Amino acid sequence: MKTVSLPSGEKVPAFGLGTWNIGDTRSQRAEEIATLRAGLDAGATLIDTAEMYGDGRSEELVGEAIAGRRDEVFLVTKVYPHNASQKGVPAACERSLKRLKTDRIDLYLLHWRGSVPFAETIEAFAALQQAGKIRHFGVSNLDLSDMKEWCKAPGGAALAANQLLYNLTRRGIEGDLLPWLREKRVPVMAYSPVEQARLLRDAKLVKFAKQAGMTPAQAALAWLLSKEGVIVIPKTGRRERLRENLGALDFSLNEKQLIELDQLFPPPSGPQPLEML
Ligand code: NAP
Repeated sequence: MKTVSLPSGEKVPAFGLGTWNIGDTRSQRAEEIATLRAGLDAGATLIDTAEMYGDGRSEELVGEAIAGRRDEVFLVTKVYPHNASQKGVPAACERSLKRLKTDRIDLYLLHWRGSVPFAETIEAFAALQQAGKIRHFGVSNLDLSDMKEWCKAPGGAALAANQLLYNLTRRGIEGDLLPWLREKRVPVMAYSPVEQARLLRDAKLVKFAKQAGMTPAQAALAWLLSKEGVIVIPKTGRRERLRENLGALDFSLNEKQLIELDQLFPPPSGPQPLEML
């Protein structure tokens, strides 16, 4: 498995498992659990969830899927901005730990910016770290100016990742945020890497993938995986699609293919407002 280094030096898989909307449909539950377990078997041992997803149903399903295999997993979950206060963070963390049926979270993220001052959230994260409830903390959906503010707050520079919308049709972060994060060696967790399946129907990508001998999903993921310090977290609740997506790791796009993708899906010419889903 290709890996990405956190600022601490710890290596995590560059291919992780997204879980938004997982656990919502009873009839799909068994296949969703089997898909996550198949991901672990294949070395995709990073799982991304959030207290928000299905009001805790995603965390509960993840807890079931990793039962008996906790030590193999790098578990990522997120706290709602309205829970990101001194009192709210430890309470939300306890609820997540209970649903996930574990005693620790590997990476705890602030889901997006809310009204609680960053310094307060960071202090609460640091206390959880001290108590051994979380191993690392980080952020999601923070733009460059937010990031600078976060890093200036006491203890904020110790963050482990920023989880951001990033795919061939959402390249805005390349304008200013991505280079800044790279310089600080903070990994990007690229969410919605196949644009929630919309990208897979894009005629330009379909044609490119066919010529390259890949499926559109593999081409979209291989493009992200070609970038330094980027972790992809595609979501699927089906083993067959997981196998297809994991196939992206077997391809390495060459210079000519990367140039072609730049022509088909041009990078931004400068800083862009941060997009989120
Ligand atoms: P995504 O991974 O780009 O796309 C997921 C969708 O694509 C699902 O409907 C899935 O359907 C389908 N799909 C996946 N692989 C496919 C394939 N090979 N062929 C056809 N369809 C395929 O979108 P996402 O779920 O928004 O993003 C991924 C993860 O990032 C989330 O699950 C979540 O963990 C995280 N996320 C974080 C934030 C944030 O604010 N931090 C926001 C959005 C997402 P099936 O399941 O039916 O296969």
